[in-house]
Amino acid sequence: MNPIVIDLRSDTVTKPTPGMRMAMFRAEVGDDVYDEDPTVNELQKRVASLLGKEDALFVASGTMSNQVAIKSHTQPGQEIICESECHIFNYEASGAAFHSLVQIRPIKGRAGVMDIDEIKSAIRPDNIHAGKTSLIMVENTHNRAGGTIYPISEIEKLSELAKSRGILLHLDGARLMNAVVATGIPANKWAGYFDSVSVCFSKGLGAPVGSVISGSAEFIQKAKRYRKIFGGAMRQSGILAAACIYALDHHIDRLAEDHQNAKELALGLSQIQGVRVEMESVDTNMVMIYVRHPKFNAESLSAALREHGIGMNPVNSEKLRAVTHLDITNPQIYETVNVFKQILK
Ligand SMILES: *Cc1c(COP(=O)(O)O)cnc(C)c1O
Repeated sequence: MNPIVIDLRSDTVTKPTPGMRMAMFRAEVGDDVYDEDPTVNELQKRVASLLGKEDALFVASGTMSNQVAIKSHTQPGQEIICESECHIFNYEASGAAFHSLVQIRPIKGRAGVMDIDEIKSAIRPDNIHAGKTSLIMVENTHNRAGGTIYPISEIEKLSELAKSRGILLHLDGARLMNAVVATGIPANKWAGYFDSVSVCFSKGLGAPVGSVISGSAEFIQKAKRYRKIFGGAMRQSGILAAACIYALDHHIDRLAEDHQNAKELALGLSQIQGVRVEMESVDTNMVMIYVRHPKFNAESLSAALREHGIGMNPVNSEKLRAVTHLDITNPQIYETVNVFKQILK
């Protein structure tokens, strides 16, 4: 197999830049299980402040951040509501059932957005036949929907509903900063509606490892215990946290370039016979490409692109997902469009 030169499979493939590696090299460290790693402490403080929360906790992965949040917010036998295409329901190995003994109630959304009335009717009544609905989760931006932004007006409605019913809200904000940069709505405004928020540093922000979960001091105290139980309490993890701090300083504003590249890719592809893109759903750094060609489906087109050194994953047999990121340049976008032209001509 040819090596991948233009890697549009995911924004997780980004590699630490020389500047980021230097920050890691220079990081002051200590034993974080004793709360003595100054770099981890600084990262947690910075994220808490960015999101307007009391406290924050550095964890090994986005999955760990979501799973620790679910565990901290629920009791066994309860029910949690989420959108049916979300990461927590599809890509976390049934972790909510495994770790937290809760049942997930998925709601089919549109572009990752759940209808507020459907959420309302999915909330269980308070009687012995039903598990208590204790948590509702939102994903923003939404991965499987193609990096779409959850409208803040919908989040506001959801927050009012949850408050009035005594239900907690968790934001899987793996790509929250993409939504911040695309909308100009600050991170603390988005986060303000939620009891807990997780943010990934190993996606578009370009760090090699790590996520941060934030919320009230009491919530973080609980989350810290579960992080330990899940095997995620780390020692001199300031080496990793330094990369995340570097990302906060250098890699947020530049997400706008990824969004621009995604738009230009979508525009270029929209002029090619055999594929279709929905321009209006390109909110951030992803493009969903529907394959409508007599000779290709998404899998065989993905294989053909790979022959030309382009990595792009099929979502199913009808559509491919392209993700722009730190390691994708604007000329590579045009090269990709040209390769599509060549293959599909
Ligand atoms: C990537 C991602 C995560 C975390 O995944 P990890 O592989 O554990 O880092 C969580 N939520 C969403 C929406 C994601 O895209």
